[in-house]
Amino acid sequence: MIDLNKNEIWFATGSQHLYGPETLAQVAEHSAEIAQYYDGNKIIPVRVIFKPVVKTAGEISILCKEANNTDACVGLILWMHTFSPAKMWIAGLQALQKPFLHLHTQYNRDIPWNAIDMDFMNLNQSAHGGREFGFLASRMRLNRKVIVGHWKNESVLQKVGNWCRVACAVADSKDMKVARFGDNMRQVAVTEGNKVSAQLKFGYEVNGYGVGDLVKYIDGVSDAQINTLIQEYEDSYTMAAKIKSDGSMRNSLRDAAKIELGMRAFLEEGGYTAFTDTFEDLHGMKQLPGIATQRLMASGYGFGGEGDWKTAALVRTMKVMGAGLEGGNSFMEDYTYHFDPENTTVLGSHMLEICPSIAKGNVSCEIHPLGIGGKEDPVRLVFNASAGKALNASVVDMGNRFRMLVNKVEALEIENDMPNLPVARVLWDAKPDLQTAAAAWIYGGGAHHTCYSQNISAESLEDFAEIMDIEFLLIDEKTDLYRFKQELRWNDATYGIKGI
Ligand code: MN
Repeated sequence: MIDLNKNEIWFATGSQHLYGPETLAQVAEHSAEIAQYYDGNKIIPVRVIFKPVVKTAGEISILCKEANNTDACVGLILWMHTFSPAKMWIAGLQALQKPFLHLHTQYNRDIPWNAIDMDFMNLNQSAHGGREFGFLASRMRLNRKVIVGHWKNESVLQKVGNWCRVACAVADSKDMKVARFGDNMRQVAVTEGNKVSAQLKFGYEVNGYGVGDLVKYIDGVSDAQINTLIQEYEDSYTMAAKIKSDGSMRNSLRDAAKIELGMRAFLEEGGYTAFTDTFEDLHGMKQLPGIATQRLMASGYGFGGEGDWKTAALVRTMKVMGAGLEGGNSFMEDYTYHFDPENTTVLGSHMLEICPSIAKGNVSCEIHPLGIGGKEDPVRLVFNASAGKALNASVVDMGNRFRMLVNKVEALEIENDMPNLPVARVLWDAKPDLQTAAAAWIYGGGAHHTCYSQNISAESLEDFAEIMDIEFLLIDEKTDLYRFKQELRWNDATYGIKGI
């Protein structure tokens, strides 16, 4: 469902006429070589398009306006191979509406000690050419990414690749439609927010639907479609006895498959890539969507429980960023603590809706009662998540701004069976430690709903927040609560008034 390779990043190089045609031809040759190398490299998941070297304010303006008007272009990599007097960039950068990365690199990795002369120096002067450009971007208060190092260096490639993923997610967000089935869970605060502000900042639109609108699609599903999908379930998961072909609750599995097909049809027809539902509004549905939501997430849809549209959009955004990478991204909730001082951990889960993209090993398809919602027993996928480095991210509406919080965690192997807890679950150790992490998260107003990621770095989320121009707070190994609280106060000052 998510194809990053349809997106283009334009590789443009700044210079000036001062150097003469011979040098400029060499600049163009080097730029084309780098663009081609990036285009062909698997770490960079988009097409990288070489653009002719820009030497005047007029050429720069044309480039930036062309980028704005090209849907496939999700961002630009700008490189100053030589010196490019930066006043030439003012009009272009004022017009530019796409994110840009300032690649502070040099064609040659090494100084050719024996051969170096002034011609070499004049050709390879990004060390100061990049600073001239950097001054102007800072003078204009432009949010952008700066990556320093030789263009073939592994860590530079990785950073460029990650930034391209972020640029894809930004473009996807601007095009995103979030469908809400029902409103949010009554009286919950954090799932509220200003949808007009969200559309202004993130670009996505959030539209509400009565559950009856969805039920129409569910009722329109044919028996043949249900049979095909159930076959897919049987091929993919270990089926619980009750829902096997001769099981006592086989009909509930058919109902669950019908819900999945109806939801998928509704979302596809409306062009929605994220959705919410709520157990408080399921009129006309036999069960809360469990397996349906889990499998929709696995195919790339964003989801937020209890009407949480901000988290639904964030899950979609992170799925775009992580497309094609090992590991997954899922809707998540900090559920229960293990306060053993030797081993303090958090059990993350939800009533049902955890994405199997984060699963380790066997996934089983089961049916069990659900204490709330007042509907029939829902079918769900049950599994443990993989161990390893991960993070939780949350976006909240602070009244006068959106704030993104990220907490790095280390997921652990789950050694206990928990036979009476038939839901998907993750166990993690929060960084720097739970006492600090949870206190910082709570001071920062982070939501109880998050997107849990196994394959996106905190740096990528910071890049996303910068491009969207929202606040970003990181809780990681280095977090100190005293400094963190200061950061909150400083940020309140940065963003003007305290939101009410
Ligand atoms: Mn919840």
